[in-house]
Amino acid sequence: MSEKVYIFGHKNPDTDSICSSLVEEILDKKNGWKDVEAKRLGKINKETQYVLDYLGIEPPELLEKVEENQEVLLVDHNDFAESVEGIEKAKILGVTDHHKIGNFRTVEPLYYTAKPYGCTCTIFYEEFKRLGHKIEKKEAVLMLSAIISDTLLLKSPTTTEHDRVALEELSKIANIDVNTYGLEMLKAGTDLSDFSEKELINLDAKLKITDNFKYIVAQVNAVSIDDVLKRKEKLEEEILKSIKENELDMFVLLITDILNSNSEAIVLGNRSDVAEKAFGKNLENNRMFLEGVVSRKKQVVPVIEKNI
Ligand code: MG
Ligand code: MG
Ligand code: MG
Repeated sequence: MSEKVYIFGHKNPDTDSICSSLVEEILDKKNGWKDVEAKRLGKINKETQYVLDYLGIEPPELLEKVEENQEVLLVDHNDFAESVEGIEKAKILGVTDHHKIGNFRTVEPLYYTAKPYGCTCTIFYEEFKRLGHKIEKKEAVLMLSAIISDTLLLKSPTTTEHDRVALEELSKIANIDVNTYGLEMLKAGTDLSDFSEKELINLDAKLKITDNFKYIVAQVNAVSIDDVLKRKEKLEEEILKSIKENELDMFVLLITDILNSNSEAIVLGNRSDVAEKAFGKNLENNRMFLEGVVSRKKQVVPVIEKNI
């Protein structure tokens, strides 16, 4: 048995991964389980930093890898490719997640909560209710921020009725005007000025391996797609490097306009034809405009995987 049980979300952590880890720590402690500690698997992005600053709290500590038999609780992911180094030999006590299950196995029984909601924190919100725990302002802000982030203020097609209800209730507890706060928070995440092109394509990148097809879909949120496209040449250089280093068949960078709910995709790689087939469009200058597309999970990855 390890001294502490670590709770963490995926690599290149987003707001849901960080907030879910912090919320699960709070929830587990309320349940009398003291030796749990939220961790993070990477740098805090600016959107999440906005939330932490709003609350005046520190981010969880960075976790580089886990030793054999380290006890862990996963949130907001289950795919080992997105998890911590050493996860194969860790002892996974539980998972709380809202993603498909493809690449997951354990040796021992575990707690596994999977719901097809828009956000992991919506699952935790319902756990608080189910267990009859009072939700304090801090966890209300953490949970509502994650819901706003994952559903892009309820505009993403991943949004469910559960997310709507949770956000409404949590905003009352936190006494927050969701639209004002949410837009500020999302905008904070679109400030990409001090990221290098290399950092930019890794900020929210997911590596996928399906049927011998290896690809990355990275996503950045923007208020102006054109502002990001000004850096297209250097972004493409970095994408090509990543394709080489990771031996990828394809790299898709989604630049998502959070105000109008559209994305521009930059697609490179030997098999960029897969993206053309998936979206029924030809790439021009390695680019294609994807009207109404904001969700990697629902509108991009499944269509790509159907066309491999
Ligand atoms: Mg996530
Ligand atoms: Mg999530
Ligand atoms: Mg996301």
